[in-house]
Amino acid sequence: MRLIDLSDAKGQIRVEFGGCNMKCPYCVHIHQPVKQWTVDEVVEYAGKSTTENVYLGGAEPTLQKDLLPLIESLHGSGKRIILKSNGMKPDVLEKALPFVYGFVLEIKAPGDDVKGVMELTGMSEERTKKYLKLLDESMVIAKQKWLRVWIRVIPEYVNEETMSRILPDLEDASEVMLYQFMSNPDFDLPFKGHNEPTPEWNELKRLGKMVLEKVPRVRLVGDRGKLVLQK
Ligand code: SF4
Repeated sequence: MRLIDLSDAKGQIRVEFGGCNMKCPYCVHIHQPVKQWTVDEVVEYAGKSTTENVYLGGAEPTLQKDLLPLIESLHGSGKRIILKSNGMKPDVLEKALPFVYGFVLEIKAPGDDVKGVMELTGMSEERTKKYLKLLDESMVIAKQKWLRVWIRVIPEYVNEETMSRILPDLEDASEVMLYQFMSNPDFDLPFKGHNEPTPEWNELKRLGKMVLEKVPRVRLVGDRGKLVLQK
């Protein structure tokens, strides 16, 4: 398995995989070096930790051919697994469903904004349209468990107008995380001329309040830290 990082901190083992089937122009992770680990090595690492929580993220975990054996093994050893994905592989999410506690899926922009999603993912029109259908399938699967929808707020694509078109897709998610673009240099490369955290924190809060109409909890993450909005 190709790993960017493996860590055990703050009550969570984080397995960050390398490689992705998208080419998002602001993505840090697809440029990071990877190291090979076996399933047994990762399971052994996790077994030494006292925490039961395992987050499988990175770039895109569902591309790893050993992902399902890893998930089954971690589940068998009593771990509580959260699997993050861009949603392009609903078949993998379906197979992982019995063994995971929940999912984190990313929505990049409204599904009717094909041009915007093409810019955000670096994919062709044909591939983008295919991805949007696959993401719909992934959302249906993931909503059978705990689901956090992760939205990177880049103002040209996610704003009050476009959020109103994203809202129907958020129904039945457990929570939504709104992340202020460029607020964590470990996550983002500059894009569309944005070198600083954007949009302003108050705009993130406004979007959070809109989203709270659809889900019980919204987490805001940005240059002011973290804020949880609850119903
Ligand atoms: S931002 Fe996410 S979906 Fe896009 S290339 Fe990076 S890991 Fe893949």
